[in-house]
Amino acid sequence: MKLTQLFKEKTETLSFEVFPPKDGKNYDSVKSATEEIAKLNPHYMSVTYGAGGGTGEYTVEISRNLQENFGVISLAHLTCVNSKREVVWERLRQLREAGIENILALRGDLLPDAADPSEWDYHYASELVSEIREFGGFCIGGACYPEGHVESEHSKDDIRHLKEKVDAGCQFLTTQMFFDNNILYNFLYRIREAGITVPVVAGIMPVTGANQIKRICQLSGTYLPQRFKAIVDRFGSEPAAMKQAGIAYATEQIIDLLANGVNHIHIYSMNKPEVAEQVQKNLSEIIR
Ligand code: FAD
Repeated sequence: MKLTQLFKEKTETLSFEVFPPKDGKNYDSVKSATEEIAKLNPHYMSVTYGAGGGTGEYTVEISRNLQENFGVISLAHLTCVNSKREVVWERLRQLREAGIENILALRGDLLPDAADPSEWDYHYASELVSEIREFGGFCIGGACYPEGHVESEHSKDDIRHLKEKVDAGCQFLTTQMFFDNNILYNFLYRIREAGITVPVVAGIMPVTGANQIKRICQLSGTYLPQRFKAIVDRFGSEPAAMKQAGIAYATEQIIDLLANGVNHIHIYSMNKPEVAEQVQKNLSEIIR
């Protein structure tokens, strides 16, 4: 099923993101973690695409396995900036053959040793969105950044480019993680005002370790509210307590989002079935 259809049929959705292995050595353990999450029967699961695109065949394989053998709708991520056009089109053919109907079209992060931009086949996700549309048959999603993309100096420009991506054929958006819901509410107000009307899925990260959050914030510059920092300071050195507190914080965030009309929630579950399961349990009467 296409996600645009799912969003029409279900008032609320809860979905999980998983990532493929970096190499063949971990394939079985990663596959089995994704299968454990699939057994929770979420509304859909997304499978990320390795930075640089080298492990794209695992994304196709895992997406296929979740859909074919567990009946879970798959959303396969696809990046373009470090790829050649032939590779992207080959991947699209593989995804079609695997029965995947949904793609999250991404630019991907720029590699530090990337060649001269004039030699790239793609510069922005909107170009990939246009090509997938030309290829035909897929429901296309894209990424958005409530706090602005790190490379973007002005959020106004970021929103203008987001509108271009939607106009190119992007049918829904998934947000980067955020820990302060007011940031999302403000972002939604601004994008709606800019004429972006597609469904926006809120990406929520249950933080289960102090190092994890430090790394994430360094990379993405995500804002941490004082209330959340206090939790990391107090429980960061006690892994089990940090995990419980991180899941509780994410649960509260989700309940507040739902109470304010943000109905589609995507959990960055980091291949951790126990985290996905606990979040789902916490919401069992809230999202069915
Ligand atoms: P774009 O939409 O192209 O935007 C990138 C930057 O370019 C922004 O600053 C934007 O404002 C600017 N821009 C856009 N168009 C123009 C234009 N015409 N002129 C000038 N500037 C422009 N990475 C992976 O490698 N694999 C994954 O599976 C993956 N999954 C992700 C899932 C989600 C939900 C999110 C939020 C991110 C994900 N990423 C993934 C990370 C993503 O690839 C990076 O954040 C990347 O730096 C930007 O990708 P994008 O698709 O948002 O790019």
